[in-house]
Amino acid sequence: RLIAPEAEGPREDALDRAIRPKSLEEYVGQRAVREQMSIFLEAARGREEPLDHTLIFGPPGLGKTTLASIIANEMGVSLKTTSGPVLEKAGDIAALMTNLEPGDVLFIDEIHRLSPFVEEVLYPAMEDYQLDIMIGEGPAARSIKLDLPPFTLVGATTRAGLLTSPLRDRFGIVQRLEFYEVADLAHIVERSANILGIGIDKQGAAEIARRSRGTPRIANRLLRRVRDYAEVKADGHISDKVADRALDMLSVDQQGFDHQDRRLLLAMIEKFDGGPVGVDSLAAAISEERGTIEDVLEPYLIQQGYMLRTPRGRMVTRNAYLHFGLPQPGGRED
Ligand code: ADP
Repeated sequence: RLIAPEAEGPREDALDRAIRPKSLEEYVGQRAVREQMSIFLEAARGREEPLDHTLIFGPPGLGKTTLASIIANEMGVSLKTTSGPVLEKAGDIAALMTNLEPGDVLFIDEIHRLSPFVEEVLYPAMEDYQLDIMIGEGPAARSIKLDLPPFTLVGATTRAGLLTSPLRDRFGIVQRLEFYEVADLAHIVERSANILGIGIDKQGAAEIARRSRGTPRIANRLLRRVRDYAEVKADGHISDKVADRALDMLSVDQQGFDHQDRRLLLAMIEKFDGGPVGVDSLAAAISEERGTIEDVLEPYLIQQGYMLRTPRGRMVTRNAYLHFGLPQPGGRED
């Protein structure tokens, strides 16, 4: 999926590293988050203490990993990265934590997917920098305690509601990332184009920004695909016309919806009379995983006012009918 907000292969990773902001100053948008973090970081630096444990939540591609690496950079410490599903046993997290240097940032992506055993080890580690694990089995088993260096745990998750409350309560700082405004995305596109040596004008950047689902990772990806189009079908320069034609060819519509978004909205309209419909029925109807609908597809559609989450299920709004030029049931057709 072209506009999937998840990261892709190694080549994209290399390009991504080049354009990923390294300081809070370069982190575009998210004003409230930036303002708060700059104060917390300065205070922690002043006290020569590690930053409090920080939880970052928000849909994929909005800059959670980027913010974690900026925290490490701004504190002048190293970043160790892992993710919830990778840490299977208590020993996995213990090995990581005993390798930390004082002040380091340990970043756990998808922290809502930690196993309960790993979570248990995290609690005393987060609270008292104490590692408390069992070694051996049966009668020979014993528990050992180790002191850990003070460190900052940065956890990222797509939805805060997925975390167990004892884990959530152990974060001193909680930041929620919002979908980006078009002006901020345009700024990101221009900045990336600059770094990658791509010719683009303001209108071209704005067109890509409008169709990026509020997500920097998608904006950067569309920029690269539009560049391909500009090089082959035009003179290499990205104007608004070139961007518009390229994005139409890529089936990214004026709202930045791709075929998945359209399929979801159309299924609700055509198969479920606009809803309310349970997310599982919807997932079955479009052969998509429930988690993808909840984490990736619907947050943006809800934020943009095309669908609603109600206690009885998902519903489309009037905007969805208008988007497809379909008459609303029981409504006027104007
Ligand atoms: P997440 O961890 O939330 O999935 P990432 O931190 O990997 O998202 O961000 C995806 C890409 O989007 C990054 O590589 C970076 O280039 C870009 N990006 C994210 N946030 C910003 C930002 N605030 N300003 C500029 N670029 C950003």
